[in-house]
Amino acid sequence: MSTEKHFETLAIRTQTERSQFLEHSTPLYVTSSFVFEDAEDMRASFAEEKERNLYSRFTNPNTTEFVDKVVAMEGAEAGYAFATGMAAIFTTFAALLKAGDHIVSCSSVFGSTHAMFTKFLPKWNIETSYFKVDEVDLLESLIQENTKILYIETPTNPAVDILDLEKVGKIAKKHNLIFIVDNCFATPYVQQPIKFGADLVIHSATKLMDGQGRVLGGITVGNKELMHEIYIFARNTGPAMSPFNAWVLSKSLETLAIRVEKHAENALKVAEFLESHPNVKMVKYPFLKSHPQYEIAKKQMSLGGNIVAFEIKGGINAGRTFLNNIKMCSLSANLGDTRTIVTHPSSTTHSKLAEKDRLEVGITDGLVRVSVGLENVADIISDIAQALDAK
Ligand SMILES: *Cc1c(COP(=O)(O)O)cnc(C)c1O
Repeated sequence: MSTEKHFETLAIRTQTERSQFLEHSTPLYVTSSFVFEDAEDMRASFAEEKERNLYSRFTNPNTTEFVDKVVAMEGAEAGYAFATGMAAIFTTFAALLKAGDHIVSCSSVFGSTHAMFTKFLPKWNIETSYFKVDEVDLLESLIQENTKILYIETPTNPAVDILDLEKVGKIAKKHNLIFIVDNCFATPYVQQPIKFGADLVIHSATKLMDGQGRVLGGITVGNKELMHEIYIFARNTGPAMSPFNAWVLSKSLETLAIRVEKHAENALKVAEFLESHPNVKMVKYPFLKSHPQYEIAKKQMSLGGNIVAFEIKGGINAGRTFLNNIKMCSLSANLGDTRTIVTHPSSTTHSKLAEKDRLEVGITDGLVRVSVGLENVADIISDIAQALDAK
């Protein structure tokens, strides 16, 4: 990040050059292509001798503005915007790996990322070895001669465990691996993995970056050379973000700091309330002193984020009863929305996993995940309280 300007200022003042109309707010550039002055301009542009927009699968003023903001926020060198978070993740791996390469990853990863590692990458003879969140000390023993990427998410979904970015970053450096972090739960306002040695940082912009549950988006930012490989691969294979989504997301980033502050303030209050409730067995929130990795969270995060996980007494049935009695909060698959969302992973998103595999990634039968929104926190707590008390 620039040493001159602060996070909020960069989020607001990083802006596409004004057009001849001198608009104050960046307009929407709904155009699939751009025109050339003459044959020579066209030749030089295609030869990449000039940095300019040619075709919106490659770049577009709206996607460039969005990318420039995230690059500044993460302290990265370059970036590329994708249609979804999964497009960012898949394209990043596909661009950097070849048949026979190997990945080491924490086993607590987003569901579709897990599917990519176990179902799809093996089609191209790319295998993944998993270590558990509490097994960072075993990580080195999984590294092979053909290991190329070390991948983690922190905080993890849905159990809200924390991995030590500095520790993992040092292992990646020692073994010359590309260290990639999915920073979606934290956002760059709370945590900047590049400071701890990450080479690339990935986001599903669908979550807190949009923050209002409207559009899908994804982005990868980081090291210039790696990003160039990803860009060349993406520009030819077509997972680009639409200008409209980029325009929405770039506006959303202007309020990221202030929204995440309030999300985290509300989430801490919800976590403290849950910790005091007799029907709750366990609460996990990074900035609660009772969190097993509280010290690591304090070291690498400026706030606790907006996701709270808790274990309701009474297992699967109690979890389902809780969901059935929720009145205001939404039962939805998204997270990081202004609206508070509650989910019960063991009976929904992770119901297809064997119980053993579920437990390994911290998904007990009574685990409930709350994405704390921006409603008045008293109303959020009162809805959760009445659903916890319902029989
Ligand atoms: C949602 C999510 C993704 C996938 O993003 P989409 O935009 O839904 O494709 C990846 N990682 C994490 C941690 C997520 O929460």
